[in-house]
Amino acid sequence: MKENLEKRLTKLRAWLKDAECVIVGGGSGLSAAAGLVYSGERFKANFPDFIARYGMTDMYSAGFYPFASEEEKWAYWSRHILVNRWQPPALPLYKTLFELVKDKDYFVLTTNVDAQFYKAGFAAERIFAVQGDYGKFQCAKACHDKLYDNEEAVRRMADEQAGCRIPTALVPKCPVCGGRMEVNIRKDAFFVQDAAWYAASERYDDFYDRACKKKTVLLELGVGYNTPTIIRFPFERMTYQNKDVRLVRMNADYPEAIPENAAKTLSFSEDIASVLSALIS
Ligand SMILES: [Zn+2]
Repeated sequence: MKENLEKRLTKLRAWLKDAECVIVGGGSGLSAAAGLVYSGERFKANFPDFIARYGMTDMYSAGFYPFASEEEKWAYWSRHILVNRWQPPALPLYKTLFELVKDKDYFVLTTNVDAQFYKAGFAAERIFAVQGDYGKFQCAKACHDKLYDNEEAVRRMADEQAGCRIPTALVPKCPVCGGRMEVNIRKDAFFVQDAAWYAASERYDDFYDRACKKKTVLLELGVGYNTPTIIRFPFERMTYQNKDVRLVRMNADYPEAIPENAAKTLSFSEDIASVLSALIS
């Protein structure tokens, strides 16, 4: 049976106090809890013209819409990137999370592509953003592995679009092969992993090896079953295989521990923001 919230918070405070290493695993539920909600009012307020024209229902499924032209595709995507990547400042929930772990030996493993961890103050060399970054362009066919900061291009496309199309002159082109460009997020086999991606991956592997031998708390936040092989399953395995590793799982829908880790897992289905605020107050 689930212990009451106060008991779990007390235990969690003790675990964190005792921890030599903390690995934060950040999933889409974390950014949603922070305010980057992809549906409902926020979607309606930002995309009324796209909803009217294409019948879109939310930003998640809209990301898969098969646009007929590059001009339409980039009209949608520039606004999507603008409202989720370039416009939002560091959100309070991410700042609270940083306060909680900043004095620890920490590392962040995340599938989020909105750069909130960077904005909130987490050290870049302690972040591995596995699935990419909305703020970067790449060649759609991955003809070369360089990434391009897209802030200026995105702001212009978002600004100069009309009738759900951008001017043809603004359609981004690969500077090497002249072909289409894409956002650097993992959605097909052409996702570009540049030198910085591989360096971050190696730093994470090193940290992981070290953390296995120490008193480590895994803070898994808003990680569901979209891509469970990146954070959720590895965290369960790490907890199971190492005696001093403990797992904290915050998830509105799937907070449960696997039975093997029941004694080493604390589960929270409560709102992540209120749980973290209670921890630092
Ligand atoms: Zn190319």
